[in-house]
Amino acid sequence: MSKSVLVINCGSSSIKFALLLEQQDFRIHGLAENLGTADARIKGVTVGNEPVDIHIPFADHKKALEVGLERLANYKPDAIGHRVVHGGSLTKAELINDDIIEHIRAAIPLAPLHNHAHLIGIEATQRLFPDLPQVAVFDTAFHQTMPAHAYRYAVPKFLYTEHGVRRYGFHGTSHAYVSERGSALAGSFKQGGWLTAHLGNGSSTCAIWNGQSVDTSMGLTPLEGLVMGTRSGDVDPSLHSFLAKNLGWDIYKIDKMLNSQSGLLGLSDLSNDMRTLIDASEKGNEDATLAIEVFCYRLAKSLAALSCGLPELNGLFFTGGIGENSAYIREKTMSYLPHFGFNLNKDANNALKRGTEGRIDAGTGPQIWVVPTDEEGRIAQEVHHVVDAHVGQQLLKKSELKTELA
Ligand code: AMP
Repeated sequence: MSKSVLVINCGSSSIKFALLLEQQDFRIHGLAENLGTADARIKGVTVGNEPVDIHIPFADHKKALEVGLERLANYKPDAIGHRVVHGGSLTKAELINDDIIEHIRAAIPLAPLHNHAHLIGIEATQRLFPDLPQVAVFDTAFHQTMPAHAYRYAVPKFLYTEHGVRRYGFHGTSHAYVSERGSALAGSFKQGGWLTAHLGNGSSTCAIWNGQSVDTSMGLTPLEGLVMGTRSGDVDPSLHSFLAKNLGWDIYKIDKMLNSQSGLLGLSDLSNDMRTLIDASEKGNEDATLAIEVFCYRLAKSLAALSCGLPELNGLFFTGGIGENSAYIREKTMSYLPHFGFNLNKDANNALKRGTEGRIDAGTGPQIWVVPTDEEGRIAQEVHHVVDAHVGQQLLKKSELKTELA
């Protein structure tokens, strides 16, 4: 049985890691950043809650993990969970073996930066902990229950059958956790129809029916859907040819513009950070005000559209840095959805403290809740399930062998 789980989220030049000890409320966090450069460092907190800032010039992923984990000498993990952005057609978390590594590799064209970095992290932890079970938890897995009419694009069929061009959806760990936790709080664990709005630097919505994802706003890549910090979300696909023909831009420049220079940053010409935009808007910055308005309107439009996937609508959960912390954004978004019967309790909305869960509707119409997400906790939970099931299978095999030999 796995007791403490090391959760790893590996990016191309950074690693976020968290050790979740047996008691779920005891966690140690760390962040290694600028890996491969002279400025590589590890930041975090020690077991005694002391801040850590260690300079590790030119350290790679393995070195950073070694240095980070040295600090946790008394708290060795029993299993490791890797957040993996794209799992292709995989439908659940999997114990990592050669076959699963090949699946992650095969999905690299669909998430080039992310999946490549995850493989580097997996290789580093396999070398550091050759005897520990390691589990891949995929952002896309939760959305594999979407029906074909939600995940197919209206493009020639061979692009789907031969090249995997379809909608996959992301943030699955968060949507799964928040909808389970939220529906339990509402007294209908994994029952009924719910919408989730995960609003952070990356944002997405999801429609969940009886605990299963039936539609979501992100698609083939995490660019589709809502306005995000630096990502445009939906645009007319002809924008690409318009920019190529009229400005001579190539596909890499267009990709970079849509992923890194658009969204709240592009609209406001100021910042990708919602807090900065709200402050600027209060001081009269019209571009910041417009960016916030577009963000909320497009979010409301996405929620309305996704509700088509639900036979009935029990309510909505807000989560993510913006969804959990900004009463202003929640109120502005709900103001676009009165015809769904949503009725926000403004006092409850304004009174909700940072990081707390709570109900914020007025008691009529679909419910509205704020549910702080816990992606690390959910990953650790999935690791427990996969490892325990594997141990169970091993025991079963052993007892079958004994019976055969007897
Ligand atoms: P995440 O990616 O989930 O960490 O969320 C980051 C986003 O949450 C940033 O745009 C922050 O500005 C935003 N955020 C955090 N706290 C607040 C707040 N109190 N009000 C508005 N936005 C916030």
